[in-house]
Amino acid sequence: MKRIGVLALQGDFVEHIALLRRLKVEALSVRLPRELDGLDGLIIPGGESTTIGRLIKEYDLMAPVRGLAREGFPIMGTCAGMILLARRISDINVEPLGAMDIDVRRNAFGRQVDSFETDLEMPVIGEPPFHCVFIRAPFIEMVGDGVEVLARLPDGTGVAARQGNMLALSFHPELTDDLRLHEYFLRIVPGDRER
Ligand code: GLN
Repeated sequence: MKRIGVLALQGDFVEHIALLRRLKVEALSVRLPRELDGLDGLIIPGGESTTIGRLIKEYDLMAPVRGLAREGFPIMGTCAGMILLARRISDINVEPLGAMDIDVRRNAFGRQVDSFETDLEMPVIGEPPFHCVFIRAPFIEMVGDGVEVLARLPDGTGVAARQGNMLALSFHPELTDDLRLHEYFLRIVPGDRER
């Protein structure tokens, strides 16, 4: 059984854990550096990136998570998690992990459309389109070489990207009943590691 950690410092980690368990995966909450040991993949949930970023430092998780990212460890970040994975953020109040070569704008949608839901085509998961829930979401402003944009809004704005074993989503798949993006992430995660 694959063993996936969900960073449980703040935000909607409970929803990710529940969804992973529906997929018959061992899902564990991660707060301490030693809880990263023996995992096959990690999810950084949505929430408040300023808070999660501050707690990552306080809990001494910055260096170990950066180290895992450098080794190609599978990591998925949703919403605030995407912000934290980025190399550059529009907001100096958050220190990112710098794991993915993407520029991300926080709270990128104006007040009118602060939060919204829309169905988007995502070729990597096939039909039907994915129902995407955006909550004070970030979007991707630029991607470096080696980053594949997996979903775009109708105006071309990137809202999902993959680089190697890392996956960043502006929206919240854990708040829907559609398991396909978590399944996609689990396909990135190699089989049970030696432990
Ligand atoms: N607006 C939040 C932030 O900037 C992200 C919102 C979310 O994760 N739903 O951290």
